[in-house]
Amino acid sequence: MALKVAIIGRPNVGKSTLFNRLTGTKHALVDDTPGVTRDRREGDGRIADLNFRIVDTAGLEDAQDDSLEGRMRRQTEAAVQQADLVFMMIDARAGVTPLDAHFADWLRRVKVPVTVLANKCEGRGGIAGLSEAYKLGLGDPVPISAEHGEGMGELYDIIRARI
Ligand code: GDP
Ligand code: MG
Repeated sequence: MALKVAIIGRPNVGKSTLFNRLTGTKHALVDDTPGVTRDRREGDGRIADLNFRIVDTAGLEDAQDDSLEGRMRRQTEAAVQQADLVFMMIDARAGVTPLDAHFADWLRRVKVPVTVLANKCEGRGGIAGLSEAYKLGLGDPVPISAEHGEGMGELYDIIRARI
């Protein structure tokens, strides 16, 4: 069975952009509207010679009820529980938000390995957000640009180490 990697994080940080890059899907379900990916998507991911399963999620929202946010949160929890490795993505240009910190608290108690991906780090716009991401307490964040394909070598090493 292939290693399964789940990408989680609040809406609009770039999860689907990374999923599309790793699966070779060019256009599906990337949108400027937060929360556009309503359902979990799973596909075959690849970086160079490395093959794995990859799961895209709708985005973490904090809600206890049956609202859309509540359903999105539960399907994120299900994705984490089924994963061998979790990429928690933040938007380094936006910095660490209270919602990011809240879910990092939850992830620290989950028994699945987690790597924080600081996305949108192309150019210099993500530097402050990247250093903030150390405060999430989930190890060294990895700067990437899902849109520009930067940092894929680091993702290769992280996934490779778990196989
Ligand atoms: P999701 O809601 O987390 O799945 O986020 P999406 O993948 O739908 O992307 C949300 C927005 O962020 C879109 O406008 C993307 O084009 C943009 N985006 C994604 N990755 C990057 C990146 O590496 N750099 C920049 N500057 N924008 C990005
Ligand atoms: Mg999405």
